[in-house]
Amino acid sequence: MELLIKADDLTLNPLQHGVLVLGGGVAGCAASIALARKGRSVTLIERELTPRHKVCGEFLSGEALEDLHALGIDVASLGAVPIDYVRLAAARRAAEAPLPFPAASLTRKTLDTSLIAEAIAAGVHVERGRSVQALSRMGANLWQATLDDGTTREAPTVFLATGKHDLRGHTRPEDPERWVAFKMYFRLAPAQAAELVDASELMLYPGGYGGIQPVEGGIANLCCVVQRRHLARVGHRWENFIARVQQDCPHLAMRLAGAEPLLDKPIAITHIPYGYIRRTTDDGLYCIGDQAAVIPSFTGDGISIALHTARCAAAAYLGEVPAPIFQAKLRSALQSQMRLAEFAADGLNNSFARAVLPFCLRVWPGVMRVTARLTRVAQHAAIEPHAVAS
Ligand SMILES: Cc1cc2nc3c(=O)[nH]c(=O)nc-3n(C[C@H](O)[C@H](O)[C@H](O)COP(=O)(O)OP(=O)(O)OC[C@H]3O[C@@H](n4cnc5c(N)ncnc54)[C@H](O)[C@@H]3O)c2cc1C
Repeated sequence: MELLIKADDLTLNPLQHGVLVLGGGVAGCAASIALARKGRSVTLIERELTPRHKVCGEFLSGEALEDLHALGIDVASLGAVPIDYVRLAAARRAAEAPLPFPAASLTRKTLDTSLIAEAIAAGVHVERGRSVQALSRMGANLWQATLDDGTTREAPTVFLATGKHDLRGHTRPEDPERWVAFKMYFRLAPAQAAELVDASELMLYPGGYGGIQPVEGGIANLCCVVQRRHLARVGHRWENFIARVQQDCPHLAMRLAGAEPLLDKPIAITHIPYGYIRRTTDDGLYCIGDQAAVIPSFTGDGISIALHTARCAAAAYLGEVPAPIFQAKLRSALQSQMRLAEFAADGLNNSFARAVLPFCLRVWPGVMRVTARLTRVAQHAAIEPHAVAS
């Protein structure tokens, strides 16, 4: 009986039922795995030959851990570090709060490697080292992706999961604050590594914020965002920027004293449209991950949203919910979480908030507990058709 069902699934006409997934990061892999496990013929196109380091704080929230577990990813066996505390540091002060949910940290290179492997194991046809140059509609029921070698791939349904990279004709709005983000790995001095062992630390400085936390392999990830006009004041140079942040935030100077940088130079990205939520889409085009919504980084919720939107989009597609309806429902489901995160981000960057910092640090543990709860994605949003989700 089981064999018969599998044979039946395999006879689905790829041109009618095939799905193209563009981008093999968190969202693209998660959607591909969900669809392949339901017998769909899935082709995933990822421009990198092998996963690389990505600019990311690498914090995995409780919801992200649940979704990864459901996909078959055991983060503990990959070396993920449990994170139990969050500290907020600004100027010479720091406050600590226990996290109200389980959390961990894991490098994106390790996580993405494991997700791609899981997708292949689920039967996804993965094409790596191929970049999608254009995506166009070829009549009512067909999409065509043109790759960098000039070849094309067609399917009636596409999942757009290219993360921060926009495809021509499918761009997201400008980022008015012109954010720049950096990531650098350090081997901390033993005493500092011992202090950071199970904590994620958020640091505030003029024009942005940054986070430092341990990841697997006994090293620490420092990930910072800053508005371009503030970076201009230090000549757009990483060395000057990090020196300036340490002056403004002696807590970070203490953490980095005697630390050894582990990359030749930091990885950097620009254009991060924080607060963006996609309004509309075309028939047959499901937008997921950062192509659906971009939450401020300090929440540590981007990966969770990527997994959540991927799961919901896969369920919507399998439940025959048209892409434009899915996208509109996703938008309304994410809107309040996004507004609150934006509001909190404005507060962190606000000079008045800095002036009342001693008070902010006193109330931080309580605010942290409430904000953490309110900025989590609802695990069972109404957009999932129950028949499919169950
Ligand atoms: C500074 C910063 C810190 C962050 N910290 C955290 C954190 O601590 N915790 C957290 O949960 N989230 C964090 N995030 C957010 C998180 O990194 C993203 O939300 C998440 O990676 C989105 O997943 P995705 O699948 O949409 O994109 P990605 O994971 O970036 O995957 C996109 C994939 O598409 C591929 N691709 C791109 N263009 C093409 C193309 N043309 N053709 C083929 N393939 C293509 C890329 O190579 C990539 O593999 C942070 C973000 C930033 C900017």
